[in-house]
Parts: sequence; structure tokens; C-alpha cells
Amino acid sequence: MCAHCNYQNLLEKAGVEPTANRLQVLAVIGGNDAPLTAAEVFATIGRFHPINRVTVYRILDLLVRHRVLERISSGGRAAHFGLAPNKYHAPHPHFCCSRCGAVICLNPDSLSIDADNLHKTFAGEVDRIEVLVEGICRNCLKQRSNH
Ligand SMILES: [Zn+2]
Ligand SMILES: [Zn+2]
Ligand SMILES: [Zn+2]
Repeated sequence: MCAHCNYQNLLEKAGVEPTANRLQVLAVIGGNDAPLTAAEVFATIGRFHPINRVTVYRILDLLVRHRVLERISSGGRAAHFGLAPNKYHAPHPHFCCSRCGAVICLNPDSLSIDADNLHKTFAGEVDRIEVLVEGICRNCLKQRSNH
């Protein structure tokens, strides 16, 4: 579990009632160091508590709408979910492995996004910036060199 985030507070601030199921979904995602797919969240919670698959999917949608979580695209595969940027979590790019589909959080400093420049050159309103880096992850590289 992330030592900084208070999941109950995060939900309340976003105007979402902190039910036990919602807190559980948030704790599973917040406690993992990489974003998770809906199926992974469902499987993790299901190991300890009976929960309906549809309930998990609905909670994920709700928390994305309220910007507690963010949906991370992963090159046409199942979307991954991670904590939306907040006081303790700076916005950061994600890496998606084109071989195994793993999605990894990159260091916030690894790529800088100049949002000020964007505002100068684009007249519309920007809600969210998503940066996805695609390539081959360390595990897949290792496997390749073993064969
Ligand atoms: Zn946190
Ligand atoms: Zn990989
Ligand atoms: Zn991330």
C-alpha cells in the first residue's frame, strides 16, 4: 500500500462515497508499482473477498470519471488502470512492451512534457496528457538473449 495516499480521503475529495469495494479497488491499484488491467484487479481482490466482476468494472469506470484513477492505453491491448496524478504522484509517462504487453510506470523526469508550449499552440482545452512509450521490456530482452 502506498504510504502517502489516504484512499478514503482521495475518494471523499473526488465526491465518491468510500464504500468497502471502492476502497479495495483503490488499495489494490495504489499498492501495485505498475498499472493493472481490470482482470488483474478482479483476480487480486477475488483471492480474499468475493466480488462480482461487473462490480469491479463499474468501480473502475466511476473512479476514472472522477479522476481518482486514470486509464492508461496500452497499444491496443486491455487498458491498464493506475492512480491519477495527485499531490504524491507526479504525472509520468508509461511504457508498454509490444511483445508481452506489460505496462510500466516511467520516472516522471524521464520525459518532459511542456504543457505551457501546448497551450500556446493549441486553442482547445486540454484535460489530460497521456504519453505512451512502446518498445521491448527488460524481461523480454533477457529471454531473447537466452535463446
Ligand atoms: Zn500514493
Ligand atoms: Zn515484455
Ligand atoms: Zn503510472
